Amino acid sequence: MPRPILVSACLLGLQTRYDGAAKRNAAVLRYLADRNLTPVPVCPEQLAGLATPRPATRFTSGDGTGVLNGTGTVKNSEGKIVNDAFLRGASETLEVARLSGCTEALLKERSPSCGVHQVYLEETIVPGQGVACALLSRRGFQVRSEEDL
Ligand code: SF4
Repeated sequence: MPRPILVSACLLGLQTRYDGAAKRNAAVLRYLADRNLTPVPVCPEQLAGLATPRPATRFTSGDGTGVLNGTGTVKNSEGKIVNDAFLRGASETLEVARLSGCTEALLKERSPSCGVHQVYLEETIVPGQGVACALLSRRGFQVRSEEDL
């Protein structure tokens, strides 16, 4: 029986990215097909109610775990702190997971919402997780990125 798995919508070819583009990933599609997994597309930033296109966003302190703990900051290219929107998107993503029976997720590396092992802190790539990934990890989900396949 097919098993549901949360997948970053942009990796599936949906045009959800901040610049209105997709990031379709052939390895992801192959991975899902080979294992008979049913993707449940999620874009935490769209689920937060943010527009597409939208300003690019990066951490200016900490990472997603820091944002969950109240010590991190995620800011858009217009200089606006968007912690609240990113927390809302993470929470809605968790709700989609619950409704669809997912226990694992395949997420886009280095995104401030979806990053699994790395994120951007200002202009630098550092170890860390995006806000939605950090919340899923905290709730016991198995999280992987397209670069783990
Ligand atoms: Fe893709 Fe995640 Fe960014 Fe949405 S928030 S565009 S799913 S990386």
